[in-house]
Order: sequence, then structure tokens, then C-alpha cells
Amino acid sequence: MKRLLFLIAFLWSVSLLAQQTVTAVQPPSGKYVLVIHGGAGTISKGQVTPALEKRYHEALNKALLTGSAILEKGGKALDAVEATVRVLEDDPLFNAGKGAVFTAEGINELDAAIMDGATLAAGSVAGVRTIRNPITAARAVMERSEHVLLAGRGAEAFAAQQGLEIVDPAYFYTPERWESLQRAKKRDSLAHLAAPNHTASLVSEQQRKDRYGTVGAVALDQHGHLAAATSTGGMTNKKWGRVGDAPIIGSGTYANDKTVAISCTGWGEYYLRLVMAKSISDRMEFGQQSLQYAADEMIMKQLPALGGDGGLIAVDKQGNMALPFCTEGMYRGYIRRESSTGPVQKATAIFKE
Ligand code: ASP
Repeated sequence: MKRLLFLIAFLWSVSLLAQQTVTAVQPPSGKYVLVIHGGAGTISKGQVTPALEKRYHEALNKALLTGSAILEKGGKALDAVEATVRVLEDDPLFNAGKGAVFTAEGINELDAAIMDGATLAAGSVAGVRTIRNPITAARAVMERSEHVLLAGRGAEAFAAQQGLEIVDPAYFYTPERWESLQRAKKRDSLAHLAAPNHTASLVSEQQRKDRYGTVGAVALDQHGHLAAATSTGGMTNKKWGRVGDAPIIGSGTYANDKTVAISCTGWGEYYLRLVMAKSISDRMEFGQQSLQYAADEMIMKQLPALGGDGGLIAVDKQGNMALPFCTEGMYRGYIRRESSTGPVQKATAIFKE
């Protein structure tokens, strides 16, 4: 009996070892994809000077190269999207981290989320004022807490406890965003005078004008795993602790190895109501729709039909990309490689093609 038990234990450990060896020797495929956005909105050719346009392309390229360096080495999609979004958060050109838009109270309240398609683990923070890189705080929530979403002062205390970089709220200030707050306030009061009940069209015009620059990244790594990350200052002149779609898993951010990784940008209230990112994933999983079809249906039809606007970036498990938007422009880019011997393809764009 003893001998039989010993034999069973021996065979079991051999089979475990064999399984581990199979996973360990699985070579990276050589194929990876990274797609990014720097926000969608009223971005027309006339508004952007050639010098500024160049700056945007440089910033997008820097973010792409940071993330793809990780993917190129066989690193994780999750690490790539976090590193990419950190670069964009640190760049004052974008409405995330430094350069975030101001609330009606004249402060910056930041939202961010990250999701791992391999495990469906997710983390997010909302309304934080002192965390230099909210995307890293979101990842810490995912990996070092038992929660998914932490908000406000609690999220800041958690980030500090985890040793993340805490900054004075003044760090996020940029004169451009401060001016757009003043413009938004002026428009708001004019809208009040013209229509004390705030007609939908006046409010939407005001909100549309000063809202762009949210950042996001989605990636497929060489091991076939997907991840998504989004970070934003939200909407200029937002009030009452308003939180948008970005930190809400399934609305502004979602990743699932079975389907797709998505990061959204646009008028958050509509993305929340449409449960944007998860709806696209569900269309793919249960409706057998292609990524392009599902994303176009949601962004080009359902979103405008409700009165919203914006765009998104997505990559599916096969490496297909979609970057639809129904606004004038979306800061965007991708870098990808089909196989270890294939060429690296990279592009950035701002306006409609
Ligand atoms: N979706 C963001 C929000 O509503 C804003 C944006 O993407 O421009 O907070």
C-alpha cells in the first residue's frame, strides 16, 4: 500500500513538472500590438499650429516606444499599458496627470483604471488630487488591496501607504487648462442667462469645447495576453465630485483575453450609460461580431444616437485593432509586429483621415 501511494505521488509530481516545463518552454510568439489615445474631441486642423501638432506626434511616439520596449522583450501587456500611460500622464499636453483639466472649484481631480485580460483583475481610483501617477495607484489597488475602486481621500491615503509618489496639488497646474476653466465658466454663466433651465444644446456645446486629452493604452503581448489602461482629469468645470467613465470597469476601461482590450475617451456620462467597453466585448463574445463591427456600431451609431460623442481604442485577442471616433479628431497611435521576423509598424495621427 505504502509503495502504491509513493508511486502515485511520484507520478503526480512528474506530471506537474512536465506541465510546468511545457509552459516554461512556450516561446513568445514575436507578435505584439500597442494602441494609444490622447483623447478625442473638437480638434480641427485650424486650431492646432504645426509646432503644436509636431509636439503631439512626438509625445505619442515617446509613449509608444516606452510601451513597445516592454512588449518587444516579451514583457507583459499589463506592464506595457501602465508604463505607456505614465508617460502620457507626465506630459502636460494631455488631460491626465500633469495638465489635467480643472474642476469648477479650481482643483484637479483625477480618475484612472487598469485591467488585466488574463485574470480579469482590475483596479481604479477616482477623484484623487495628490497622486502623481494615478494609473500606478490603480494598479496598486488591483494588486495590493482586496478592492477594485478606491475614491478620494481614501485612495490617496492608500497610495501614500503603498509608497507611491505624492505631490502638492499645484503640481498638476498648467496655464492652458486654467484658461479653459475660465472660458468654460464664462460660457456656463452665459448659458444660464440665455436659458435658466440649461437647455441640453447649450450645455452640450459648452462641455464639448473644453473636453479632450484623456489618455489610454491597450496591448496584446507576445504571450497572447491583453490589458487596458485609462487616465483622465475628466471634464473641465466638473462639479460635485463628478466621476466619468474612465475608472469604471466595463464602461471606459475593459480587458478580457477571450475578447478584447478597450480604453475609451469622450463624454463620460454617455459611455457610462452605454456600458461602452463591456458592450463591445459582449457583442464579440455572444454575438460573434468582429471587433471593427462592434466598435463602429457603438461609437458611430449608439453613442451619437444618445447625444454623446468621443472615441476609443481597442485590440482583440488576434491582434486586430480598432480606433473609431465620431468627433473631429482623436490623438492616437499604434505600434505592432506580426512575428519575430516581421517589420515593426508604427503610426500616429490626430485628425480624420
Ligand atoms: N471620458 C472622460 C470623462 O468623461 C473625458 C474624456 O475622455 O475626454 O471623464
